[in-house]
Amino acid sequence: MRRGWWSALCAALACVACRVAPHSPESVDPLGLGGSRGVRSELVAAPQLRITRLSVNGRELSQRSWERVLARVEREITGEIVLDDAAPLELPARGDGALAAPFEWPTHGAEELLLGSVVRREIVPGTWFEYARGAEVIALESATQEGTFVRKPVVEPQRVLVAIVPRDPASPELLGLHERLMRLEEGAVRDSGSLIVIQADALAARSNWFVSRRQLEEHVLMHEFAHALGVPVEPQRTWRGPHRGAHCTRPECVLYPALDWRSLLSGVLNGVPLELCDACRGELAQARGAAATRAGSTSSP
Ligand SMILES: [Zn+2]
Ligand SMILES: [Zn+2]
Repeated sequence: MRRGWWSALCAALACVACRVAPHSPESVDPLGLGGSRGVRSELVAAPQLRITRLSVNGRELSQRSWERVLARVEREITGEIVLDDAAPLELPARGDGALAAPFEWPTHGAEELLLGSVVRREIVPGTWFEYARGAEVIALESATQEGTFVRKPVVEPQRVLVAIVPRDPASPELLGLHERLMRLEEGAVRDSGSLIVIQADALAARSNWFVSRRQLEEHVLMHEFAHALGVPVEPQRTWRGPHRGAHCTRPECVLYPALDWRSLLSGVLNGVPLELCDACRGELAQARGAAATRAGSTSSP
């Protein structure tokens, strides 16, 4: 009986942890724009954290999952969360519901390019391009090693874009994905905002009697928001590779990336991780404190 219970638990935890197993390698970064690592005070200490939510082909997360994750995120930041919804998007899909082409956050329509209200300009020969609507740069495009182009939206530093898609054919097994976005500023490219993509059909396929869809939704959404906030910072607690991005070595942390005896033991004791560990939370508190001190010293005469 006991063996059966353990097997069931191991199977359940495996379902959670395998979201990270096929993490894709870091994307091509010809300008060395990977961005600074560490807590992103532009998100953590901003007066507002702005989140734009996009439903693709009718896929959504439950309202309860959103409420619980946003309440957790709001505890870790100085400002308030402002949530808005982009107009739902319908994209071509295959028979199994997966998108026909890799997902790109919509920045402009093809007609706008044809009519010239959006202009594509080369900024690094053959490698980097920008899309501008008037004076505003709305997207940056870069060449991949395979010779294709990837376009990313340009947003203000305190914005996180969250797309709920069925499955992206570029990474069909991942449950969630986080990417730092970039902007051009005085000729330099800087880190600016984030893009999170959640694959709803992959989530649904992984949920089961032991790990509910709601738990998976909360776990994956919180995991990706933790990437956006920029933890972990401490090198001894930072686990880099083979998973994409920096993860936390504490098994009770929502940012722990692996299935091993430590995550199994923690799962038995604490359940599916839905929160950051104390060390990650401490780093965010420290960043909020430092930002408040800086703001105080610049505002004092
Ligand atoms: Zn991750
Ligand atoms: Zn942690």
